[in-house]
Amino acid sequence: MSKLIRILNDLTINKIAAGEVVEGPYSVVKELIENAIDANATNITVEIKEGGQKYIRVSDNGKGIHEEDVELAFTRHATSKIQSLEDLASIISLGFRGEALASIAAVSQIQIITKPREQPYGISLDIVGGKVVNKQQVGSPDGTTIEVKNIFFNTPARLKFMKSSQAEATKIGEIMSRLALSQPNITLKYINNNNIMFTSPGNNNLEQTIVSILDKDLFKNLIYIENSTNDIKLYGYISQPTYVRGNRNFEIIFVNGRFIKSKLLYKAIETAYKEKLPINKFPVCVLNIDINPNIIDVNIHPSKTEIKFHDEEIIYSFIYKTILANLAKHTKIPAMVMKN
Ligand code: ADP
Ligand code: MG
Repeated sequence: MSKLIRILNDLTINKIAAGEVVEGPYSVVKELIENAIDANATNITVEIKEGGQKYIRVSDNGKGIHEEDVELAFTRHATSKIQSLEDLASIISLGFRGEALASIAAVSQIQIITKPREQPYGISLDIVGGKVVNKQQVGSPDGTTIEVKNIFFNTPARLKFMKSSQAEATKIGEIMSRLALSQPNITLKYINNNNIMFTSPGNNNLEQTIVSILDKDLFKNLIYIENSTNDIKLYGYISQPTYVRGNRNFEIIFVNGRFIKSKLLYKAIETAYKEKLPINKFPVCVLNIDINPNIIDVNIHPSKTEIKFHDEEIIYSFIYKTILANLAKHTKIPAMVMKN
């Protein structure tokens, strides 16, 4: 018998881990959509009520989860996406840690109904605070619907730190729009308190997706850019320097389809714009970087929004130079008054 040290039980471990994965309702939305994307869905609908704290529902028409796997999916470190550490070096799916469903289920009331195409019926599973309370066969369309209610109902300390519904809804809207922009081939519909906030076109047209999600006025202010090396392919849109925002929230970067935040790349972008921008103003851009997964590390943090580039110099100068060259080419410069 040990004296003072003991191993925590699974429920406690999951609740602690949930602190890192489930920062708030917006991270639940993010994880569930990422799962739908990884399941090859072409249609994803997200419905929230009261900032998502009371109610989040994400349904997709993806590949579903087999009856045998449904409970396992809610077990910590259970994933269909990698098998070994080596697989991480070539990861292309958005998930790989096998923690999201277990973490969300540990701190909420959750129901999943899921049906793979080849299975004639669906499975419905209810979990409350990490404990399975019901499992049955049901009729269901192909795909997966997950309903998450009362986030943090069993972790009062976290509940206390919840922001207002309005603030949470704003954060959810923000992450929803980033995910929609990352997947112009998917129709993503966002409903907040019964109001349709947006439906992305899902026609694989990035420009139309940007205009429909971000701002109609962007239409005439976007410059298409692309460039590539052996390991990196960059493509997307940047704004004319005359079209600016008050913060860097609209410097939107996807690496291998994953929305990431990167001080390094924000700096590369802003340095390229430098003298062209008014002070304290920031450009809008939606940049896709497809990079050899062997030269990045995606496993930096449980939320997976940061990545590490093995060679920061190379990526920095690649982004900086490409934007600089395109701005020089496309910027509308006021006509110069020539003397004689
Ligand atoms: P991860 O995404 O890191 O694998 P999760 O806890 O998010 O871990 O999900 C666990 C597993 O459940 C996934 O690996 C996947 O096999 C399955 N899964 C989760 N959501 C869906 C979904 N919407 N459609 C199909 N399978 C899903
Ligand atoms: Mg996941």
